[in-house]
Amino acid sequence: MRIDIATLFPEMCETVLNESIIGRARKKGILELYTHNIRDYTMDKHRRVDDTPYGGGMGMLMQAEPIYCCYQDIVQKSGNTPHVIYMSPQGKPLTQKKAIQLSQQEHLLLICGHYEGVDERIIEEIVDEEISIGDYVLTGGELSALVLVDCVGRLQEGVLSSSECFEEESHFNGLLEYPQYTRPPVWHEKQVPEVLLSGHHANIAKWRREMSLLRTLKKRPDMLDSADLTENDLKFLKNCKNKEV
Ligand code: SAH
Repeated sequence: MRIDIATLFPEMCETVLNESIIGRARKKGILELYTHNIRDYTMDKHRRVDDTPYGGGMGMLMQAEPIYCCYQDIVQKSGNTPHVIYMSPQGKPLTQKKAIQLSQQEHLLLICGHYEGVDERIIEEIVDEEISIGDYVLTGGELSALVLVDCVGRLQEGVLSSSECFEEESHFNGLLEYPQYTRPPVWHEKQVPEVLLSGHHANIAKWRREMSLLRTLKKRPDMLDSADLTENDLKFLKNCKNKEV
């Protein structure tokens, strides 16, 4: 999979993209990640890429043309038209479901705004969708683009080793993950649940499923409405709810 990021702060992105699991996948060539400085595409002799908004108001706005030239250069050099995403607090929320959907794309281009945002016409002209990482406002799109690369990138085959497999993780099956423990078996007088030390795979699987359901019920009950639940799951949840009353 290829992902391009158009930004005013490529170094900020490069630092993150070269680290840890994503950095490893990048070195192996499983993820092709490129950053582009939008400032390299301005015709302004002072390298300006922003201007005051028409109609007045606070702050500066990124101009459409440098972003457009950056986009065209990426299209030309890569030889294909990427799925273009503008990182924006006005976008659709980035969820695990959205990440899975995006992970099926071959080529993404993420546009990072700054200041007050971007000229509306660039969105009309080249953007396929706007994506938000939450209902709050950041100073720029870089952190949100990096979040997207991380959660979409780790879904690509070969990025995670089998020991880092994501299939049992929070949100993958619409539930939160069960609690996990590692050595030592007793820490600060807290014991690892007996069943996990038993070696009995079926009991462990049952316990994990139930803990997953219980956690979701306690922490994110809203998620249960759309989770894929079996008869047994529903029975277990009903029991939990009855015990609480
Ligand atoms: N004036 C704009 C906000 C601009 S914030 C508005 O009210 O809608 C500056 C830039 O930060 C945006 O262009 C966007 O790229 C990025 N950004 C801010 N909050 C974000 C969020 N929640 N998700 C994704 N990107 C965000």
